[in-house]
Amino acid sequence: MPITVLSVASEMVPLIKTGGLADVAGALPAAVEAHGAAMSSFVPGYPAVMRSLPKKAKAVHTYTNLFGVEARILKADVNGAALFVLDAPAFFDRDGGPYADHAGHDWSDNWRRFAAFSRAAADLASGGVKGEAFDILHAHDWQAAMAPAYLRYAPPETSNVAAPKSVMTIHNMAFQGYYSADIFGGLGLPPHAFAMDGAEYHGGVGYLKAGMECADAITTVSPTYAREIRYAEFGMGLEGLVQSREGRVHGIVNGIDTAVWNPATDPAIKAHFTAKTLSKRPANKRAVEKHFGLKKNDGPLFILISRLSWQKGIDVVLECVDHIIGLGGSLAVLGSGDGALEAALLAAADRHPGRMGVRLGYDEALSHLMQAGGDAILVPSRFEPCGLTQLYGLAYGCIPVVARTGGLADTVIDANVAALNAGVATGVQFVGVNYAALAEAITRTVHLHHDAPTWKAMQRAAMASDFSWTASGRAYADLYKSLL
Ligand code: ADP
Repeated sequence: MPITVLSVASEMVPLIKTGGLADVAGALPAAVEAHGAAMSSFVPGYPAVMRSLPKKAKAVHTYTNLFGVEARILKADVNGAALFVLDAPAFFDRDGGPYADHAGHDWSDNWRRFAAFSRAAADLASGGVKGEAFDILHAHDWQAAMAPAYLRYAPPETSNVAAPKSVMTIHNMAFQGYYSADIFGGLGLPPHAFAMDGAEYHGGVGYLKAGMECADAITTVSPTYAREIRYAEFGMGLEGLVQSREGRVHGIVNGIDTAVWNPATDPAIKAHFTAKTLSKRPANKRAVEKHFGLKKNDGPLFILISRLSWQKGIDVVLECVDHIIGLGGSLAVLGSGDGALEAALLAAADRHPGRMGVRLGYDEALSHLMQAGGDAILVPSRFEPCGLTQLYGLAYGCIPVVARTGGLADTVIDANVAALNAGVATGVQFVGVNYAALAEAITRTVHLHHDAPTWKAMQRAAMASDFSWTASGRAYADLYKSLL
């Protein structure tokens, strides 16, 4: 019998995505299945999710009052795996994003929406829903993090199954779900859960903190980030807790879905290619140039695909724009986020017509084309738990230029002399997210690009990197087994 796992995530490709969490939640079920774990998924019923639910989805549970609203748990079969959805229109049927309205303001009842989601996940995993039970509840990020707390402090009364074990995966320590103490009374937890080894955090309620305290194992999405979060610079206040749970914290690097991200078959790109047919790649570069209104340029085309936020070092890219153009490169940017960064990017593009282009917004297809046509992708993150865009860059021969942190440190091999001589270099790493460090990395990249045989060797090595889910799928499955 396979181990049964309920993966609980507030985003999941192809249903709803704002970032890397969605890619991971979407890819995990197939990744662990090969290693003896049968994974079902549980997501909130956002409008996009409800629209794509198969007609045959049926209600397996009804709540007349789930944190004050009516709700149902729906179950559907999607490609042979069970998908559960929390259909709670009062919480999730809203215009705007999963966490914020159109203006970018967080929904004021997020604490209630995601407590309800976590409560329902705990019920589903531990026999509170008739006919359903799981060996493992796997919670992703703060939105699902109260589920392990409900399992510990308030398991369903009707349950007659063994309590599941729980895993808490941190995709980004920067988002913790922290609320003032006055919400505690609305969470349906016993008073003793408001404690240092429970949900209490700096006098308020910490969702991610609670999940990390209550889960049987904690994982994060790269070995380097797992080490970094032991320290104040990256632990965002939770470093002490990470240290205290030392033996239970695992770093498992994300894979990519190679069925979706494959330049030999990708329907979103102009010309298909493999490591052996790199000569076909420039047709994609021309398509990107055209899309962004750039002049044809034989110098390197740098790309940036990112949430526009402080974490991602966009301010430092802005400082380096003149440097890129001065060295003969061009720059294409796709992203959305911080309004000031958006405006500054547009202004920089105005200063460099034909050499720098910016598209604000979210465009999955364009992101594929950019990876296929860009020469190098900039990922100057101040911290990066895993990062996916550098992995897509590797798969598409778009050389990653990355800050040496988190998953970026674990997945890119810097083109230092030894790596170049051994033929294993796959990218350029730099230390410290500041103008001098990034500008130097860009200079190095431009020089490497001028050396066509070396560049091609790097592209081939990058495309040969194995970032399929095989190894990481096994690592998660082994972790589940170790808990039972
Ligand atoms: P994070 O989850 O912190 O935003 P990751 O690198 O882990 O960063 O994942 C980001 C994901 O979102 C990648 O799949 C990336 O291609 C995608 N992405 C980010 N911004 C955009 C955008 N504006 N348009 C299309 N895809 C984007």
